[in-house]
Amino acid sequence: METALAAATRWDADPATRAEVLNKAADLYETHLGPFFALLAREAGKTLMDCQGELREAVDFLRYYASRIPTLDRPARGIFTCISPWNFPLAIFTGQIAGGALAAGNGVLAKPAEQTGLIACEAAKLLHQAGVPREVLQLLPGDGPPTVGGAALTGGDARVNGVAFTGSTETAQIIRRAMAEHMSPDAPPLIAETGGLNAMIVDSTALPEQAVADVLASSFQSAGQRCSALRCLYVQDDIADGFLEMLKGAMAELKQGDPWDISTDLGPVIDQEAFESIAGYAAGREVLVANAAPNGGKFIPPTAISVKGINDLEREVFGPILHVARFKAEDLDRVIDDINWRGYGLTFGLHTRIDDRVQHVADQLQVGNMYVNRNQIGAVVGSQPFGGEGLSGTGPPKAGGPPDYLNRFCVDDRPRAEAPPDSPRMDLTDVTVALAQVTPPPGVVTTQDLPGPTGELNRLTTLPPRQPFLCMGPGNAAQDQAKAVEAAGGGQAVLADRLPAHHLENIHEIGGGVIWWGGDDGTAREIVQALAARPGAILPLVTGTPRADHVLAERHLCVDTTASGGNAELLAANA
Ligand code: ADP
Repeated sequence: METALAAATRWDADPATRAEVLNKAADLYETHLGPFFALLAREAGKTLMDCQGELREAVDFLRYYASRIPTLDRPARGIFTCISPWNFPLAIFTGQIAGGALAAGNGVLAKPAEQTGLIACEAAKLLHQAGVPREVLQLLPGDGPPTVGGAALTGGDARVNGVAFTGSTETAQIIRRAMAEHMSPDAPPLIAETGGLNAMIVDSTALPEQAVADVLASSFQSAGQRCSALRCLYVQDDIADGFLEMLKGAMAELKQGDPWDISTDLGPVIDQEAFESIAGYAAGREVLVANAAPNGGKFIPPTAISVKGINDLEREVFGPILHVARFKAEDLDRVIDDINWRGYGLTFGLHTRIDDRVQHVADQLQVGNMYVNRNQIGAVVGSQPFGGEGLSGTGPPKAGGPPDYLNRFCVDDRPRAEAPPDSPRMDLTDVTVALAQVTPPPGVVTTQDLPGPTGELNRLTTLPPRQPFLCMGPGNAAQDQAKAVEAAGGGQAVLADRLPAHHLENIHEIGGGVIWWGGDDGTAREIVQALAARPGAILPLVTGTPRADHVLAERHLCVDTTASGGNAELLAANA
């Protein structure tokens, strides 16, 4: 921390130099593919195909964010702690630190997952070699809590100006509470990407051969250790018997073994703890299909488990376990409700030949990334900005795409409102909640088609979220905040004049977060602590002018527009 502070906290190179350094790092990463592949296979159990995808994504992050640097118009926040997971030890590590924090000019304390410290070390070496100063990027390999000094580097020290985190929802909540405990005056942001309970629906018009291949890729590639991976497949009753027979046959063809062998489809799971937890989960359940595991190693064989629906899934099981449910055509909306009800919102897959159905499902589902007639993994930087909502993360903004992920790594515009003279400090014991609804016209705010290969539609839509912001003033500032929410593109605002902080826990309508412009940091801390004590999604305290990325939801739709075949007879019947 002191080294970072001694280096003036931020990376003071001019924007052009920062872009040049990140592009140079991208070149170095590419020429370094041999050592990276060897480390990815040995330390993280990645197959060669996954190694290639991983390096591609890391390089794309570097070049993409370098290209966005000229759009930044505000200074960096200061020191960011970036905590990354083992499942994308190069791509997410690089995306967070180089892509987000360094591109914006922050100093970075990088804490990679304990399982994949060597890969992180190799990446940090190349970033330094490319020209990132050593004191601007410091690598802190090691186990979670001890390495971050209990909570020192996640907000326990007021000199930390922000945290970027990818990992489990539980750890994100622990970090959030630590940040709330010791919050510094500028309300450092927590940018978190967490887990999902991702579903796919295959209806009776789909082409089974194609859907089966996409189920296999979505569930079992990387041994299911992707946050985007398919966890719960819904197959329409009318085709389920034949479909499951085909799935079983296809699963039997998967080759599991040494990831360094080019014919291997999936390798082991990450470590003994993961192995025991996943094996224990599968034991005693109604298994539809289970391949035989190879001898030795921490291999969990690809497994399909029969369930009634997504509500049978107790938690995210981070391995090659697919849950399969059947549904009746007339129950489609109930299935959608069940998926939404679980509160995660990361990826979703749909196989259908009915255009209206694509529209209907896309309108109803609250997920960040929806994929139609293809698999639901492997988001491409610049084409498929990636990130979830609800329990799946604090986005928008999504990583790897417009509008501006980098904004969150910059200081906010900070209007300061004085508390009205009769209440110099917000009275947090008085229960008077003035409710006023500001409801903008519902509907799509913007739609943008992003570049991608021919035959693929990549559409990013921003729209008002269903749930409102709480505007807490102080005093009349609440009116201005509500107007600012509206000006930023929508959402709803609820005005609260005086509100006991502990009541925040009980106001379920606050889905967006809280806006507070008081100069009084004690109150700000109370608000953040109350927000952190709430179960469920992580909600922000906004101490500046709310921007579009604070108040809008962001959804990405990716469609394989070349998909053909399927049951044309049913199509005609449906029309
Ligand atoms: P996973 O289950 O995928 O290992 P975790 O959320 O445990 O997910 O880990 C993701 C990252 O968070 C890792 O770098 C890990 O070391 C780190 N981590 C775990 N616990 C904490 C904590 N209490 N504070 C800060 N970082 C943590």
